[in-house]
Amino acid sequence: MSELLVTPTREAGLTQAESFLGRAGRDYAKSRNYDFGADRRGNVSVMSPWLRHRLVLEEELLESVLARHAFSSAQKFIEEVFWRAYFKGWLEQHSRVWSDYRACMKSGVEQLDANAELHDAFKRAIEGKTGIDCFDFWARELTDTGYLHNHARMWFASIWVFTLRLPWQLGADFFLRHLLDGDPASNTLSWRWVSGLHTVGKTYLARASNIEKYTEGRFNPEGQLASTAPALTEEQTYSAEPLLEAVNLPDDQPFGLLITEDDCAPEIDLLPRPPAAIMGLTATPTRSPMPVAAHACEFAAGAVGDALARANQAFGVASKLVGHDEWEARVIEWANANNISVVATPYAPVGPVRDLLSAAGDKLNEQGIELRYLRRGYDDLCWPHATRGYFKLKKKIPAILKQLGLSQQ
Ligand SMILES: Cc1cc2nc3c(=O)[nH]c(=O)nc-3n(C[C@H](O)[C@H](O)[C@H](O)COP(=O)(O)OP(=O)(O)OC[C@H]3O[C@@H](n4cnc5c(N)ncnc54)[C@H](O)[C@@H]3O)c2cc1C
Repeated sequence: MSELLVTPTREAGLTQAESFLGRAGRDYAKSRNYDFGADRRGNVSVMSPWLRHRLVLEEELLESVLARHAFSSAQKFIEEVFWRAYFKGWLEQHSRVWSDYRACMKSGVEQLDANAELHDAFKRAIEGKTGIDCFDFWARELTDTGYLHNHARMWFASIWVFTLRLPWQLGADFFLRHLLDGDPASNTLSWRWVSGLHTVGKTYLARASNIEKYTEGRFNPEGQLASTAPALTEEQTYSAEPLLEAVNLPDDQPFGLLITEDDCAPEIDLLPRPPAAIMGLTATPTRSPMPVAAHACEFAAGAVGDALARANQAFGVASKLVGHDEWEARVIEWANANNISVVATPYAPVGPVRDLLSAAGDKLNEQGIELRYLRRGYDDLCWPHATRGYFKLKKKIPAILKQLGLSQQ
């Protein structure tokens, strides 16, 4: 992976977007499914690490794409960008899927300790020692680089669940610990989609011929993969929960800005006026009960550090960064020192950051500190359409682009 690809700054993200934009039209639609290998990624944008941490906003990327291409030419790319909003909005309205996955991961780790057979099979899979060449290669590519092509993620998850018959939660956790774009919504729900739990009963089967075609013959696991993919089942059913109310900041009252790894562009279109103080929080090690890869932690910490520096410049306010294990006491200390009773944070969607913030809510309230989640207009427009399948949101894309002022149609 090139150095630029892992540089956790907004500037590096914008440079990466600029280098890809010319290919976001029909070229992308034709070639995006090919995984040519880590040194030939020009057919996809590789924007996910920056988009996931909101160093670059989806809205900005869409605007740049539409400045270069007609909607009809770039439709496929635009639709892919909206998948991120779909998954985030869906998990936001089915938060128990996340809490059940988290609970299951805790017991999953205990199971690994108690069950030697499961432990060995799991270890072989994550160390890339299963004997299935492509799978072993992707396991190493993931741990070495923090990125996998979308098609490789689908094949990998399918082989994990249906050929190796390992629990999907352990696979999702392996991804979340290593991906630079590790995202609670896209990751958990994609693993559930492959397993037949998201679109209930509909699974994704990895086929040797498909792998051979889309890796241009780099791999052909003929005879090594499961030939059927019976959908996994679960006892729980998940009904939609209402979205949290969007909130604003109180007029005239000074507030502190808390920047997290979920939104690292707080100086863009979010605050009605400058904050009185700024603090940064990282929660990356809490993505899993198992150790999270150093490169994922470094990317997120770098992203928050970059956001603090930009916010500092934009608002002329000093800032500091804290880790997840000390932040509650530090927030209280910081708020008191700056005479702040309102802390605003860019909306933290369902996931590890939100878990931390929710757990601290009562303590902050006891100290007279109120936490307010500021949601972006883009999420407000997309999330209400993410209650069921993707198609419902997809149909609304032209109208959403118009409401965002990005298209006339
Ligand atoms: C099992 C599995 C796990 C995944 N885990 C994650 C994850 O943790 N974090 C993550 O960001 N993506 C995840 N994805 C989605 C997708 O694979 C990546 O977003 C994409 O491969 C990133 O590469 P890119 O930026 O080059 O994508 P491009 O093809 O260039 O697409 C542009 C952007 O559109 C969005 N996008 C494209 N495809 C998807 C998709 N299927 N779902 C959601 N958004 C999409 C991303 O923001 C991406 O950066 C997962 C997919 C699967 C099948």
